[in-house]
Amino acid sequence: METSILQQIKNKAEKYLGPQLLQTGRVLEVRVWETATMVEIDLHLPSADMQHWNEVPYIKFRIGNSCYRDYTPFGWDAETATCSLLVDTAHEGCGSRWAKHLSAGDSVQYVKIGDTHQAPHPTNLVVGLGDASSLGHLLALQQLTLPGIRFDGAVLLDSPHTGQLVREYFRSPVNTLTTRHELANWLLKQGYCTAHTSFYLTGNRELVVELRTLLKNLGHTNIQAKKFWS
Ligand SMILES: Cc1cc2nc3c(=O)[nH]c(=O)nc-3n(C[C@H](O)[C@H](O)[C@H](O)COP(=O)(O)OP(=O)(O)OC[C@H]3O[C@@H](n4cnc5c(N)ncnc54)[C@H](O)[C@@H]3O)c2cc1C
Repeated sequence: METSILQQIKNKAEKYLGPQLLQTGRVLEVRVWETATMVEIDLHLPSADMQHWNEVPYIKFRIGNSCYRDYTPFGWDAETATCSLLVDTAHEGCGSRWAKHLSAGDSVQYVKIGDTHQAPHPTNLVVGLGDASSLGHLLALQQLTLPGIRFDGAVLLDSPHTGQLVREYFRSPVNTLTTRHELANWLLKQGYCTAHTSFYLTGNRELVVELRTLLKNLGHTNIQAKKFWS
């Protein structure tokens, strides 16, 4: 009962406020990865000011009636106002369903483009760590890190096959791993310099907390974390 009253309020608020706030984009292409756990979406967002994307951005999409989800654009080109998204669809959720049903030519609506406040440190080694939901975020962080050799990272994925696809599709130093244990071991082996390495953690809340604790125990202090979902 409470949910339905809340939903009614949301619907009313959206009815009056929504149309003025919403921006529109168009889907150029959709690629469902072979493993069916990831949907890659190319977008044209004519009103997005990509020239000034100096921090990793996120886009709050309207994915249904009064329902919104954040996704991270990467591989953007300010001249053509195009970018891509990677939506992790390995679970049941309205965001997953939305991504799976998109096709070329569809229009998408979004409320805003916000900043995650994760901008690469100007001189340190930039290390991005996350899970499948943050693959786009890691690629965006890589895009913003110049020169590119200052970027390193690792992503936790559902299977080695998805990892192989990441390596095939993107020119990225991001290491692909499948368990938290592997990720922790990988981190221990890197021996990153405490003074000159900045870490950027994203993805599942529990994973982000676990990684931050591990890094702190290793003596690292330059850590930025953004929890995506729980
Ligand atoms: C700033 C920001 C940027 C983000 N960028 C991206 C992005 O680029 N790509 C992306 O895929 N997601 C991204 N997310 C997460 C995204 O906004 C949604 O939270 C996520 O997709 C889940 O939405 P859903 O509707 O599919 O599932 P929900 O309906 O919210 O959740 C359904 C169930 O699935 C579980 N669940 C949710 N997400 C996952 C997951 N990834 N893996 C396994 N189980 C899950 C939940 O715990 C819940 O039990 C971002 C979040 C933030 C805050």
